[in-house]
Amino acid sequence: MSVSIHFNNVIKKYDNTTVIPGLSFDIKEGEFFTLLGPSGCGKTTLLRMIAGFNSIEGGEIAFDDRVINKIIPQRRNIGMVFQNYAIFPHLSVANNVAFGLKNRNMANEEIGKRVDKMLDVVQMTKFKKSMPENLSGGQQQRIALARAIVIEPSVLLMDEPLSNLDAKLRVDMREAIKDIQRNVGITTVYVTHDQEEALAVSDRIAVMNEGEIQQIGTPRAIYQRPANTFVANFIGRTNIIERTIVYRDNKYLLVMDEQYEVIIENLKKSFDKQDTKVKLSIRPEEFVINDNKNGMRAIIKGNMFLGMNIHYIVELQNGEQVEVIQESMIEEPLKPGKIIYLGVKQNKINIFDFKSEVNVLKDDLL
Ligand code: ADP
Repeated sequence: MSVSIHFNNVIKKYDNTTVIPGLSFDIKEGEFFTLLGPSGCGKTTLLRMIAGFNSIEGGEIAFDDRVINKIIPQRRNIGMVFQNYAIFPHLSVANNVAFGLKNRNMANEEIGKRVDKMLDVVQMTKFKKSMPENLSGGQQQRIALARAIVIEPSVLLMDEPLSNLDAKLRVDMREAIKDIQRNVGITTVYVTHDQEEALAVSDRIAVMNEGEIQQIGTPRAIYQRPANTFVANFIGRTNIIERTIVYRDNKYLLVMDEQYEVIIENLKKSFDKQDTKVKLSIRPEEFVINDNKNGMRAIIKGNMFLGMNIHYIVELQNGEQVEVIQESMIEEPLKPGKIIYLGVKQNKINIFDFKSEVNVLKDDLL
């Protein structure tokens, strides 16, 4: 039976160093939930606390309403998949998958049935009798996944399971993992530092920094309405620039330069009616290059053709440089020295309080 997971003011210390100062959040039953953040932010530490391999220095972790702080790892009914597969080299594929079941004294016939079913789920049936050394990294990881799921754990924990695979396989395995998780419906906590992978597989993502959660949301909310400038910078690429919002004729206008102003209609109600300095996050694809005067006057400084897209370095009148991405056209890219007008897609850009760097736009995305 899958469970929900509850963190209530959870604290982790290694000796006198606090690495998680107090986390409170919930993971829903059956959810694919990802911990995402830079190296050293505490993702693996938290995962190991769920598994029972790390002590908990304060607060509570509960599966449904059962506090698990003091329950030994073997009794938490958890499946784990690691970066380095950790499958047994001397056992066949079938025996690797059967391993956890044999430990539970299950009848051989039942074990056989479950192993066959699980090999089918991870699409490895025809490798049933193979030895691990004859399998590719992706296939070994499917076996590791099968072995973790076959015991029907309450929670599946995965720590950077794809980071040893090459780039193409990593993308293929994302889909496999997501499909398998959806089929079996186990509450899954997934750790990665790869933001695109997190966006691809997760129902919800928690973005962490220095042991604290910066934002929890769907991939779309995290990317399109980052809660603060840390999240905006960490997920995807962005340009952070400073501008002013003025209140004129009952409207909020974002002053981009002397001639280009953008009406902003989705500010939070609490936003001040006075002229206010703000920070903007404008992703490279949120700019539009115009040749009429609808935009900031700017000059192309460099271009790079990348197949589907063209990346431009563009200099604004005040000397700021921004990165702009446009879909490739059949025509030649714009050349350095070309004067352009740089507009923004106003519903896509994000605006942050100058000091707290917290988003001031309505949080209307799920
Ligand atoms: P992440 O998984 O996000 O890369 P970790 O959870 O591995 O981060 O580490 C979080 C912090 O805790 C880091 O500063 C790391 O150096 C520290 N840390 C991790 N494990 C230990 C340990 N066993 N003893 C002391 N400090 C540790």
